[in-house]
Parts: sequence; C-alpha cells; structure tokens
Amino acid sequence: MGYLPHALLVGALAFAPVAVSAQSTFPTKSVTLIVPAAAGGPTDTVARLIGESMSRTLGQTVVVENYGGAGGTLGMGRVAKAAPDGYTVAVWHIAHATAPALYDKLPYDVVNDFDHIGRITDVPMTLVSKNDLTAKTAKDLLDWIAAQKGKATYGHAGVGSASHLCALILMNETKAQMTGVGYRGTGPAMNDLLGGQFDVMCDQTTNTTNHIKEGRIKGYAVTTKAKVSSLPDLPTLDSGALPGFEVSAWHAMWAPKGVPKEATDKLVNALQVALKDAKVIDRLDSLGTAPVDQSIANPAALKSYLTAEVQRWGTVIKAAGVKGN
Ligand code: ASP
Repeated sequence: MGYLPHALLVGALAFAPVAVSAQSTFPTKSVTLIVPAAAGGPTDTVARLIGESMSRTLGQTVVVENYGGAGGTLGMGRVAKAAPDGYTVAVWHIAHATAPALYDKLPYDVVNDFDHIGRITDVPMTLVSKNDLTAKTAKDLLDWIAAQKGKATYGHAGVGSASHLCALILMNETKAQMTGVGYRGTGPAMNDLLGGQFDVMCDQTTNTTNHIKEGRIKGYAVTTKAKVSSLPDLPTLDSGALPGFEVSAWHAMWAPKGVPKEATDKLVNALQVALKDAKVIDRLDSLGTAPVDQSIANPAALKSYLTAEVQRWGTVIKAAGVKGN
C-alpha cells in the first residue's frame, strides 16, 4: 500500500517545484527568433535589431534563424508548430495578413494558431531599379515599364511578400505587366538588383536606403503618402506618378498559440523596452522608419489589427485575381 502513494508523492514533489520555477524564471535558455525570409533583407534587419535589444532585457541570447520560402509561409508554419513555451518567436510582416487570400492550402490559421506579441514598425517602401536604367523620374520608369510590354522584370520575396504585393498593386494601377523573379527574401534579391540581373523592385526603405544614397541603385519614389526624411530627394508616388498609391510593410512579433502568460508578459515587456531603446530608434530612423507607438505594441492591438488586415487584403487580392498555390 505504501509504495504507490510514495512514488506519486515523490513524482509530485519532483515535478511541482521544477514546473513553477521553470515558468517563474523564463527565460532559462536562448530564445529562437525565426525570420521567414533570407538573411540580409529588411525583415532580418528589423528582427536582429529588436532581438539584440530584447536579449538585454530577457538576460538570454536571442538567436535569429532565417527560414525563408513560399512568401514567408514556410517559416510561419514552423512557428505555428513549435512548442508554445516562449522559446520560439517570429518577426514577420504584412505578408502574414495576405497569406490566407493567396494560399489555398495554408497549414495554419494566421490569427488563431498564434499568440500575438505586438507590432514593431511600419516601414515605407521605395520604387527602385538597377543603376543603368535610363529613367530619371517615377513617371519615366512607369513609361519604360509599359513600353517593355511585359518584359520588364521585377524582383520579389515570394507570393504575398511585401515586395510582391507592392508590384501587384503597381501593375494593377498602371495596367502594365512585368515578369516576376522570386527569391527567398529581398536580401538576395537586392544582390541581384545590384548586379543588374533584373530591372525593378519595390522594397522597404530598411533594405534600399543605403544603396540609393550611395548610388548603387536608382530610387524613384516612396510608397507612403508622406515623404521619408532619410530619403529627402524621393517624392511620393501619390503626389506625382500614381495619385492614391499607398502601401507600407508593417512588422510584428508572434509566438505559437498557448505560451504561458508569464513568458508572454516577459516577451511583450522586452519588445516594448526594445521599441524605446535609443539604439533601435536611431537605426530605424536612419533606415526611414520608426517604432510604432507603445499603445499598439501589445497582443490585443496586434490581434485586432491583423484580423482587419486579413479582411482588407483579402478583398484587394481577390479583386486582382492572384493566387499563391
Ligand atoms: N521584406 C521582404 C518582402 O516581403 C522580405 C524580406 O524581408 O526579405 O518583400
């Protein structure tokens, strides 16, 4: 009679304190931050910057793992299936909201299979080209694209990525077609644009600013309604070549669904601290963007924003008749 209760008691004693202390000391090991795009691109830049600051607050290393492909859906699929213990998070962007309309067989629910940590930044995009294109203004560039009758090439980070979405909207509004060249992220796409292997790209200022400023690619316009202070020579597409044009790439952090509250709270706090970190603010400023307001850097605000974005882009994508698989 005495054996079983004793074993249970030992088991219970062995288990209970470990479980409590493992939770109360989160994190006890490094946190993996998945970037669903290749290294060296705009999401990678934002993620590494935020991860570095978060690691100081959490007291543990934040290890960035690039897992690009299929417009970010491979990486987000991996996050959805990871253990919900707080040790796996992702930084991804607007493409998380466009995926349901583009991929019929998406193996996860973008809203309900994730814990929403918070929004990070909203990055303007730029219309750029390889350096030896003769166009001088955005209007010249759009005329040149139209004259190529579908042969002009544009680089993008996969179906549904921000660069793909921006080009789709551009083609939809100008009624001029281009031929897409897909990459696992706009980091590698940028390398090919620098080498002149395709013609045009619409990508985030976090990837294009330095190359434009240093004359390695041509920048024509920004895609936001307001000009971008780090690129003062670039007009908005809205004010000139394409009135009404507006697209930008918001970024946010997610974890798999079901992370214990204590770990979520610590991740949210570390993210909010990162968004107030002077180093983060300065670097984002030099790349044409800024952290979001603290009032929206939290789980509830991200969940409701994502839900609205899924609706909004679902309508746009259906109207454009585009599919990802
Ligand atoms: N920002 C890129 C895009 O969606 C992806 C990347 O970060 O490489 O176009």
